[in-house]
Amino acid sequence: MAAGSYDMVVEPGTTKSCVNCKWGNADFVNPLRGNCVGAKNHMGGIWKRMIMDYYNTTCGKYEEGDVNFRDHV
Ligand code: SF4
Repeated sequence: MAAGSYDMVVEPGTTKSCVNCKWGNADFVNPLRGNCVGAKNHMGGIWKRMIMDYYNTTCGKYEEGDVNFRDHV
């Protein structure tokens, strides 16, 4: 799997935005931003990525899910 497919893409109005993705978490301070825990580094650790525009960003790892679903990561 190419690492490039995880690259975040800003797509205004996307239906596959991070806000609907089970890997996304809203930022506590500014909910228009968030972070993503969907990627892991080569050591298997979670690679937490900042999302600058939580509502208009997507990536190749988008996975629709309950946004409150957290426990398996
Ligand atoms: S996996 Fe992709 S679409 Fe999902 S929260 Fe992370 S960056 Fe956004």
